[in-house]
Amino acid sequence: MKNKLIMTPGPTEIHETVRRAFLQPITNPDLDEDFYEFYLETCQRLKQIVNTKNDVLILNGEGILGLEAACASLIEPGDRILCLDNGLFGQGFADFVKIYGGEAIMLQFDYHRGIDVTELEAFLEQDNRFKLATLVHCETPSGITNPVDTICPLLNAHGMMTVVDSVSALGGERLKTDEWKIDVLLGGSQKCLSAPPGLTLLSISQRAWTQIQNRKTAIPGYYTNLAHWAGWYENKWFPYTQPISDIYGLRAAIDRWLEEEDPIQRHGLMARGVRQALLKAGLRLYPQDSFSNTVTTVMVPEEITFKTLFNEMKEEHHILIGGAFGYLKDQVFRIGHMGENCHEAKLYLTLKALNRVLNKYQVPLRGKLHHIFLQEIEI
Ligand SMILES: *Cc1c(COP(=O)(O)O)cnc(C)c1O
Repeated sequence: MKNKLIMTPGPTEIHETVRRAFLQPITNPDLDEDFYEFYLETCQRLKQIVNTKNDVLILNGEGILGLEAACASLIEPGDRILCLDNGLFGQGFADFVKIYGGEAIMLQFDYHRGIDVTELEAFLEQDNRFKLATLVHCETPSGITNPVDTICPLLNAHGMMTVVDSVSALGGERLKTDEWKIDVLLGGSQKCLSAPPGLTLLSISQRAWTQIQNRKTAIPGYYTNLAHWAGWYENKWFPYTQPISDIYGLRAAIDRWLEEEDPIQRHGLMARGVRQALLKAGLRLYPQDSFSNTVTTVMVPEEITFKTLFNEMKEEHHILIGGAFGYLKDQVFRIGHMGENCHEAKLYLTLKALNRVLNKYQVPLRGKLHHIFLQEIEI
């Protein structure tokens, strides 16, 4: 495989310090108490990133494991679960709810916009008898960041727990887990923290722990059973051997994030620059509001197909851009500006290459994407 610049919305580019962290000698993570301290410290640093005092865990599996583990551990057959749906991940949450016997009540919103809190409030006035609600912080396929800062406190005020998929937002969007009353927050290693794919990051409130420990039915499954993690530090016992090298890598990525003064501000600035460049040049974005800090979703111009655009970017410029699945397949392309991708140089190269490809296929552009980008981020 030739080296490429991966500008997809996850996985992202990995910094050299993170790659080197993987080379460190390992120990036996079950028997060596030093590793329990290292794991705990890594979780404590994650707490700083997401502003929580809740327990944090790192699970051995890509982000999807977190979604499934939260549903497996919290949902019992017959539970009513509210699934907020303004995109593919919001809709997909219901599949996990159903696998574990929950009754998924879908509340659908406009797919082009952030979740409308007034609409949600009107719904909750009629019906709020739910054990928990699931929602997605950043809808990665459409490039929309939902206002979890107002949604979660509202759901909490109506008595239900909140499970938030923040896989593509954690590290790139402001996140105040405790202030916003998020019971279970889910993240992944491969998006804005820019470690390789393979780990789930999860925070879990006391209320959620209490629910898990007072179930009427047993949790079906082992790997997804969060109850096994209770007291891991006190008992010096992990449910399974920890992927120690992956955790070394994640730790290096977390430390890089924490060393920077304000990575979220950088995400905001770069995202705005990319959006303004595309819009001012005359391209159309998929979202109509609530633009994500971490991914930009653009309508494929009529002069070119997604396949051609993707291949030209890859073969001629060695840059990978994202497509989308489901109803967005072939309709949009996506530029990820997460973590290590979210830097001026990489975005400049990407937009310059994109400009070339679009010129080649006679897509009309007002100005050069990469030039507008530079102007916009100077402001
Ligand atoms: C990336 C991502 C996940 C993890 O899913 P994969 O498709 O396996 O990468 C979950 N939720 C969201 C919102 C994501 O962006």
